[in-house]
Amino acid sequence: MLAAAEPAAAPLPRAKPLRVLTTIAPIYSWTASVAGGLATVENLLPADAGPHDFQFRPRDVKRLESADLILMNGVGLEQWLMRTLNADAARRTIPRVEVAAGWPESGFIRDLPGISAGSPAARGHEHDHDHDKGAEHAGEANPHLWLDPVFAKHAVTNILQALETADPAHRDGYRTNAAAYLERLTQLDVALRSATRDWAGRPVVTFHDAFPYFCRRYSLDLVGVVEEIPGNSPSPRHLAALMKVIRERKVRVIFTETQFNPRLARQLASDLSIPVAELEVLETGPLSPTAYEEGQRRNLETLRRALR
Ligand SMILES: [Zn+2]
Repeated sequence: MLAAAEPAAAPLPRAKPLRVLTTIAPIYSWTASVAGGLATVENLLPADAGPHDFQFRPRDVKRLESADLILMNGVGLEQWLMRTLNADAARRTIPRVEVAAGWPESGFIRDLPGISAGSPAARGHEHDHDHDKGAEHAGEANPHLWLDPVFAKHAVTNILQALETADPAHRDGYRTNAAAYLERLTQLDVALRSATRDWAGRPVVTFHDAFPYFCRRYSLDLVGVVEEIPGNSPSPRHLAALMKVIRERKVRVIFTETQFNPRLARQLASDLSIPVAELEVLETGPLSPTAYEEGQRRNLETLRRALR
């Protein structure tokens, strides 16, 4: 056993491996990459469930209650988790860390782009489909930070710190894994930076407001989104304004997103005689340590084909 070879002052290893529960797929990829085989990492949302409207099943509550550490996005994304945690005194004591903690205030985006900025529906990204709670999080920042690889590096640093604190006996291993993974994220950022240099300032329209951080990082001009509120049909007025922007700005493609029905975007694109292409929001999808990087690289290829 490793523990026997460690100096007496070293923290005692846990009797059982640390059980970490992540909320969404990108946080799973990042955490599994830092944990390696040193901790058990599970994701709360199944691979096909979006974070917009998650319903807890009894076995999800069990997994929640047996977790040693919860790693979540924050920024108002996991209202459904907070409600379930706060409903029970024992659950409230499970340590939890928001991977967005410490991200500078200037790094948050609060308004939808272009045509939508300032409209009442655009002020908050409502990630909760209970219509009676519609205005609850108005003014909250856009939560889709994970699509920015530079944010991913910030999150990985938070994850490393959380794992070290919860399981100091494996600190060196976590640090080695995190260093290697951060290097891969740097490479991903460099690849995106060099590819997108040719498209700086290109106008982009996406299905919902998942890509403002990505677009800001790589100098794409996000001029509009089809759905102002995820899961809510846009108003005819919004669609008319969007079509005007697409024509005026000569937007060449409408990006649909995995997990959302592409019917409306296809209709719009066909009315405007422009193509659609599908980007991955990465909040759902396969749970693996490499899924985040792979998804971002597929998005890069999609952009390459659509924008060249
Ligand atoms: Zn979303």
